[in-house]
Amino acid sequence: MLDFNNTEIAFSAKSQSELRNAYLLFNTIKHPWIVRCASVASRVALKIHFPLAWAVKPTLYKQFVGGETLEDCKKSIEHLRRFNVRTTLDYSAEGEQTPEGIQATFEETIRSIDFAKGNDNLAYAVFKPSTITTDELLAKASEKREELTPEETKEFLEFKKRFMAFCQRAHDNDVRLIVDAEDCCFQDALDELTDEAMRKYNKRRAIVFATLQMYRHDRMPYLRRILDDAKEKGYVAGIKFVRGAYMEAERARAAAMGYPDPICKDKPATDANFNEGVRFVMDNLDHFELFMGTHNEESNYLLAKLIDEKGIARNDTRIFFAQLLGMSDNISFNLAHEGYNVTKYVPYARVRDVLPYLIRRAEENTSVAGQTGRELRMLKTELDRRKRAK
Ligand SMILES: Cc1cc2nc3c(=O)[nH]c(=O)nc-3n(C[C@H](O)[C@H](O)[C@H](O)COP(=O)(O)OP(=O)(O)OC[C@H]3O[C@@H](n4cnc5c(N)ncnc54)[C@H](O)[C@@H]3O)c2cc1C
Repeated sequence: MLDFNNTEIAFSAKSQSELRNAYLLFNTIKHPWIVRCASVASRVALKIHFPLAWAVKPTLYKQFVGGETLEDCKKSIEHLRRFNVRTTLDYSAEGEQTPEGIQATFEETIRSIDFAKGNDNLAYAVFKPSTITTDELLAKASEKREELTPEETKEFLEFKKRFMAFCQRAHDNDVRLIVDAEDCCFQDALDELTDEAMRKYNKRRAIVFATLQMYRHDRMPYLRRILDDAKEKGYVAGIKFVRGAYMEAERARAAAMGYPDPICKDKPATDANFNEGVRFVMDNLDHFELFMGTHNEESNYLLAKLIDEKGIARNDTRIFFAQLLGMSDNISFNLAHEGYNVTKYVPYARVRDVLPYLIRRAEENTSVAGQTGRELRMLKTELDRRKRAK
């Protein structure tokens, strides 16, 4: 029976010392002031090129990152697969948006799509659109397309070329490709491109996946439009659901610029919207594939229940549960143990390039109500259980 409190299964992949280190880490980052200090210190260190690897590698990096390169991640990939958990490699370098940085990210993302080809341990490939262009261009192309200068129009077309090159490569390699979602002000342009790519590449099965941030109150109407479009044009829509990671920034931007808040009014409204989306896709599974990225236990129980109630095989490859490496192992490993499809997002990049991602994880584990408390409780329970079992 599926039970996210089963810590023996949850941490079966962790040695005693890994378990102790994880406990120590979560115990440290539960203090907001420590995370705030680390965040400021790391920004300064990055600016002055102060070496940080010695402090970050054995701690945050070890918990949340697969390695520096695709090759480095092989050990983690194989280790996870031993527990029926697949990997989604996420090149998480958040470098400067210079032409050289963009070109390097483009090439690395292509390598990651090639790396996933024919490899059953890898469930999907993924990319963040803002890493292959600039934030300013994405925002203007979404909000004021008609005001793009000829130079900006050219830049946008170059961005579109890179975006579609990923989709084409994924299609040629028969690899599913997720388009991550970021700020709402980028999203109209990204929805447009993702819809176009799904129509082109998802004829036989879902290759391209759109990410819907269900903290946005306009996402259910968008999902319904996707279903109508998929039926009309004859394709399988790939849908990744998340709640959304940029709530504070979205609310602040809306207030500062005087437009309506795009986010649901409160947490229960976001939860209801998220679960409604999951139900909707499950009720129309002939036209969808589903990737559900969440650490919320209730949503994970819900999807598991819907799969069983509908008599769908637990290993039906159209449906995947997903969590981030180093978080919510109680969900991932218990689902995988019960035979559901599970993937971990495994970020990889050099320490200094992945630092912004790591700081976000630390901040999230400080700020998301209950998340660190739950991780700590689970780790402590398992440490105690192992002590008793000796
Ligand atoms: C595999 C994976 C991939 C991800 N990819 C993306 C991505 O591409 N883009 C992205 O934006 N995020 C992404 N995320 C992060 C995700 O959006 C959430 O921020 C994070 O997972 C926490 O939400 P939850 O569903 O796990 O858990 P919960 O703890 O149940 O939910 C927390 C979330 O609820 C929402 N929320 C909290 N308080 C309120 C409030 N007062 N009003 C309204 N809503 C509220 C926020 O979205 C918050 O992040 C990803 C997460 C995972 C696990």
